[in-house]
Amino acid sequence: MEHQRVEKLNTILEELKNTVDEKAAKKLGLDKCKRIIEKLYSFSSDCEECDRRFNEIEKQIIQLFEKRNVLEENDFKQQKQIISSIISHLQKQHKLIPSGYYMSLFISIGSSLGVVFGFLIFDNIALGLPIGIGIGAAIGASFDEDAKKKGLTL
Ligand SMILES: [Zn+2]
Repeated sequence: MEHQRVEKLNTILEELKNTVDEKAAKKLGLDKCKRIIEKLYSFSSDCEECDRRFNEIEKQIIQLFEKRNVLEENDFKQQKQIISSIISHLQKQHKLIPSGYYMSLFISIGSSLGVVFGFLIFDNIALGLPIGIGIGAAIGASFDEDAKKKGLTL
């Protein structure tokens, strides 16, 4: 597959973003689309499904672009379905994680531990909680950074 197809899709996505309003752009997940397309492209030579999905989303985006001025509720729904099924493939088969995944994971661990240790050590939950969240966020951020560097983030 040639990289031009990715570039062409990116151009269409940009134009689409400029045409529809902010709310519609968000509903169509245009920014997410860009990242997904890059990933599908990078896996497409080894993964038949990514190749197939790439063709699917390419067709979908061109279609959306053609009817960009008359988008209906059904178009948003369809787009959402396509994106979420692609994301689930990328996460399951290619072990990709959503960006900020570790951040929210460690904040939730940190806050539960913060409550427990706040209670045990300071006899004060309110004191332990922010410490737990702070430590969790710091650990989460470094994991996210690492995953991003390795290209594992969606
Ligand atoms: Zn794949």
